[in-house]
Amino acid sequence: MVDQVIKIAVVGVGKIVRDQHLPTIAALPDYELVAAASRNATVEGIENFQDIDALLDARADIQAVALCMPPQHRFVAAQRALSAGVHVLLEKPPGATVSEVQQLQYLANDKGVSLFASWHSRHATGVALAKRWLADATIEAVQMRWHESVRKWHPGQEWIWQAGGLGVFDPGINGLSIATHILPSALRLCSAELAFPANKQAPIAAQLSMRCGTADVAVSMDWATEGAEQWEICCQTDKGQLKLAEGGAILQIDGNDMTPDGACEYVGLYNHFSGLISNSQSDVDLSPLQLTADAFLLGSRQTVDAFYD
Ligand code: NAP
Repeated sequence: MVDQVIKIAVVGVGKIVRDQHLPTIAALPDYELVAAASRNATVEGIENFQDIDALLDARADIQAVALCMPPQHRFVAAQRALSAGVHVLLEKPPGATVSEVQQLQYLANDKGVSLFASWHSRHATGVALAKRWLADATIEAVQMRWHESVRKWHPGQEWIWQAGGLGVFDPGINGLSIATHILPSALRLCSAELAFPANKQAPIAAQLSMRCGTADVAVSMDWATEGAEQWEICCQTDKGQLKLAEGGAILQIDGNDMTPDGACEYVGLYNHFSGLISNSQSDVDLSPLQLTADAFLLGSRQTVDAFYD
């Protein structure tokens, strides 16, 4: 619990703000939601502005903002907020490029405010225990499978198919955020194959080959899966097999359910943010975004059939 309730505003009101940020902020005593900024959408019961400039000009009492617009548009807003001495939570992915988020990190340090490049999947119920269990394991092989339906999870979102929208890496980076967090050694990309629909600027599928120490890490991302989603990471180790399923919500070790009790992802995420603010710290781990950038740098590109929503 923080000493003083944090007055927070949300910026970029869309699916994730309504699904997760608003109910989580409302449920936590550390925060008071005082305003929103969005070009078109509004949030009932609080003051609304069309952009972050108007928000910060009008409300000098705001101490923190959660930036939830598409990643291509986050840097300028974050720069504005940090320059004004406001703590910033960045939705994932934290930005459109690695270097812009590094610049934000320097700015936050200069201004003495907290910057949190959040990765919500790292707060899934099974993840912390998986990390502890793997800490003293020798990794032999890893498979990550992140398959879902773009039609189901991102209906009508044009930005996600545009340059910087990341395509299938928008969900796939959640898996990478877990893998980079739980595995005891850093990941290195060796090769990648990216499938771009003929009418899109971002991939619909990706196969990555990585190494964790000497172990092979095989990643499959697919956005055209119309059945049940598969968000899984499987690690073969000298201690046995660890599997995280359902995006990290389920933990199995050698086939036995070991999932601990836990709160929802966004409660963990917002508790971490208030802890960072209380301790005057930032948390900016760019490794999932760096691996994604590496895949775009190194990956071979295949053009596949045009895709229509
Ligand atoms: P979304 O539904 O498209 O909402 C984003 C909102 O940002 C839009 O509704 C829009 O509201 C605002 N915006 C500001 N500038 C924009 C621009 N130039 N183009 C388009 N919209 C703009 O997207 P979302 O699903 O909430 O995703 C937002 C971020 O959250 C992404 O980084 C995504 O990876 C992350 N996320 C999403 C989910 C999910 O399940 N969808 C889960 C976890 C994290 P106005 O028109 O009112 O400005």
